[in-house]
Amino acid sequence: MKIYLDNNATTRIAPEVLDAMLPFLTERFGNPSSFHSFGSDQMEDIEAAREKVAALLGAHAEEIVFTSGGTESDNMALLGAMKINPLKPGLVTSRIEHPAVLETAEYIKSKGHPVGLAEVNSNGTLNMDSLESCISEQTGLVSIMMANNETGLIMPVAEAALIAHERGALFHTDAVQAVSKIPVDVRSSGIDMLSISAHKLHGPKGVGALFIRKGIEIPPFMLGGHQEKGMRAGTYNTAGIVGLGVAASLAVRHLSEENGRTGLLLERLEGGILEKCPGAVIVGADVERLPNTATVLFRGVESEAVMTLLDMEGICVSSGSACSSGDGSSSYVLSAMGIDAVDANTALRFSLSRYTTGREIDCVLEVLPPIIEKLMEISPYA
Ligand code: PLP
Repeated sequence: MKIYLDNNATTRIAPEVLDAMLPFLTERFGNPSSFHSFGSDQMEDIEAAREKVAALLGAHAEEIVFTSGGTESDNMALLGAMKINPLKPGLVTSRIEHPAVLETAEYIKSKGHPVGLAEVNSNGTLNMDSLESCISEQTGLVSIMMANNETGLIMPVAEAALIAHERGALFHTDAVQAVSKIPVDVRSSGIDMLSISAHKLHGPKGVGALFIRKGIEIPPFMLGGHQEKGMRAGTYNTAGIVGLGVAASLAVRHLSEENGRTGLLLERLEGGILEKCPGAVIVGADVERLPNTATVLFRGVESEAVMTLLDMEGICVSSGSACSSGDGSSSYVLSAMGIDAVDANTALRFSLSRYTTGREIDCVLEVLPPIIEKLMEISPYA
C-alpha cells in the first residue's frame, strides 16, 4: 500500500471520471470530426464537457479551448499574446513560474522582445513594486501563476490583473495548481486567459484547457486542422476531454467541503512535524497557501535521503525542486525567496488530495520523525 502525498505532481483519476471516459476508449471510438453520426455524435459530449469546465472557472463555454494540458495552454497564451500587437510583444512574468511559462518567456526574449521577471518577497508573496517596475509600454501580457506548485503559495492574481490592465496589457494566469483547491472566477478576478490541466484535479493526463476571454483574438498555436474553431488543430481527445469535464464538475461539487477536510489534514501534518521534528520550518507558514500543500525545510538533512527512506516505507513525497528531476540544481522557487541552496536542498513537499486519509497522515507522522532524527545524527551540516 502506497501513501501518496505527491498530488501536486499528479493525482489519481476519480472513479467517476474513469467511468465516463471508458466508452470513448472502447465502443465509442469514432472521430468527432467525421460526417457520420458514429463520430459526430461525440461533439455533444465534448460540448457538455466544455460547459462543465466553463462552470468551474466562471466562464462561458465558448471561451474554453481544449489543449493537451497545462504546458500547451501556457505556451498558447504566451506565444499568442506575443503576436497580437506588434507594438506590444513583451511579456512580464515572475521568477517562480512553472518552466512551461519560464522557458516560453526565454523563447520570447530570444526573439528580441522585452521580458521582465518580477521578484517575490522573502515570504514568497509577489513583490508588487517589482511587478509594476517590470511593465513597460511594450508589455502586451502579464502572466502570474495563481498558486505555486512547489510551495502552494497563492499569488494576488486579481491585483496583478488590475495593474496589467491599467498599463494596457492583458493578463494570463497559470491556474494549473489552483483550480479545484481554491475558488476561481475569471470575471471577478479580471483574468483574460487562464491555463488548467486535468491530471491535477483527478482527471486524466494529456488534456487541459485554456480560457480565452471573449473578444481576445490570439492566433492559433497548433496548425493543421479545423478543430476548436481552428484554434487548436488535432483530432479530439474525446475520452480525455470528457474526463476533464467530469473532473471539473466534481471539483465544483466538492470544492468547499473537500478543501476544508484537506486543510484540516494538512494542519495535522504540519502540527505533528513541528512537534516531532525540532528545527523544521514550514515555507510560507504565515501567508495564504493552498489547503493541500506544505513545503518543509528539515535543515541539516538532504531531502533526497529522506525521500529515498520514505519511499522504502511506501510513502511518496517530493523535494519539489529541480533536483527531483535529476539535474542536481536546487529549487529556483526557494532561491527566489532568498533561501540558500543548502537549505533549499532540505525541502520536502507534501501535497494532499481528496483521497488522503487521517490514518495516512498519522502513519507519516510515525515514520518520518525517526528518519529525520537518524539522518541528523550523521549529517555534516547539523
Ligand atoms: N503549470 C504548473 C503550475 C504546473 O504545476 C504544471 C505541472 O506540474 C504545469 C503547468 C504543466 O502542466 P501539464 O503537466 O499538464 O503539462
